[in-house]
Amino acid sequence: MKLPRIAFFALLLIFCSSSAFAQSTSLIHAGKLLAVPGDDVQTEKTIVIKQGMISAVEDGYLSAEDLSLSDSEVQIIDLSDKFVLPGLIDMHTHITNERDPEVNPHEWLTLYDEDFAYEAIPFLEATLQAGFTTVRNLGAAYTTINAIKRAVNKGLIEGPRIISASGGISATGGHGDFHGYRSEVINAFEESVGICDGADDCSRAVRAVVKQGADVIKITATGGVLSNTAAGVGQQLTDEELEAIVKTANMLGRKVAAHAHQAGGINAALEAGVHSIEHGSYLDDRSVELFNETGAYLVPTLLAGVVLLEEMEVNDDIPPAIVAKIKEVIPNVEAAFKRALDGGVNIAFGTDSGVSKHGTNAREFELMVAYGMSNEEAIKSATIYASDLLGMSNFLGTLEAGKFADIIAVDENPLEDISSLKEVQFVMKQGKVYSNK
Ligand SMILES: [Zn+2]
Repeated sequence: MKLPRIAFFALLLIFCSSSAFAQSTSLIHAGKLLAVPGDDVQTEKTIVIKQGMISAVEDGYLSAEDLSLSDSEVQIIDLSDKFVLPGLIDMHTHITNERDPEVNPHEWLTLYDEDFAYEAIPFLEATLQAGFTTVRNLGAAYTTINAIKRAVNKGLIEGPRIISASGGISATGGHGDFHGYRSEVINAFEESVGICDGADDCSRAVRAVVKQGADVIKITATGGVLSNTAAGVGQQLTDEELEAIVKTANMLGRKVAAHAHQAGGINAALEAGVHSIEHGSYLDDRSVELFNETGAYLVPTLLAGVVLLEEMEVNDDIPPAIVAKIKEVIPNVEAAFKRALDGGVNIAFGTDSGVSKHGTNAREFELMVAYGMSNEEAIKSATIYASDLLGMSNFLGTLEAGKFADIIAVDENPLEDISSLKEVQFVMKQGKVYSNK
């Protein structure tokens, strides 16, 4: 399903009105260059950057003189001993918070939306420094995430480009609703506009979150692991609700990302036409067929499962309902990923960071490769495929003329050693350098 052009141009306007990118011309001398993941690595190239965009990629190392410019008008960036590739994209983050077993689990009850915005500052910085120049944030208070997004676009704080779902859409009592407190406590919170029951009400919920600024619609099609309720991880939104959500979202020019674990919920969401399944822990052969029929993406978030198992070793205070779901769900994740991989399902990179530590996103690459994906496909999942799922392939995902100058560099060739992406040495977002080690 194509997005209406108007929505796309609105999105573009937001990014291009940013004052955060550099004004002068920059020339990056790239020793090794993977301009288009999937194509051959090139050597000794110059990336020409003007007004935050790539204007050309040329052979050899160009000087200011080659462009008929004076030295003062040009910034030369020497990456002749580095491996240069497009900025990475994480399709599933929660940038406004981070699990920390050391912190009182009830602390969030004392915080305002503004607190979460301040707490996000180091998370944004860590994510960008790790080479992730764009994130799709799937769940945060709209007040918080909208303010953060504006601050990043204005250059007030350092962070990746944010595509945001604001709050998610969930059934009453579903994974995205509040749980685990007395009803008086829960009732003290303003009810989220994204909680819905019945097809019409779920259409209303989509309209409401779009009104609050959502770029993409996040839904919880099934139960989830980290909600404090023993409700399992089966389907929670009905087929009719799912259809109404997708139809309304498409009318408003938004894609739908569906959190889903059990196969019934995954398949119902795919039948309804969602654009991505998040997690997909129990996807079955029918799911693979549906993925391939619809062209939907799987966003596996392997890292979330691994860090929850790591956390269980050291944290005795995880609520019993959550521990039971971790033990039930996580052991299935590897087999589900392999089934998708073998079935030729589109896979886009996503970590669920916030469950894991922000800035450790690249651990996901190691897991994808350990579970059988090639290094090249793993890199494509965080560049070409992610930009396709965002509907932003015209501007993101490769280093070609006309694209945003979102560029990173590492010491070693990640096609040979995927772990090199854990040590990003250079980060440029929209023409501005944020890291150069
Ligand atoms: Zn998530």
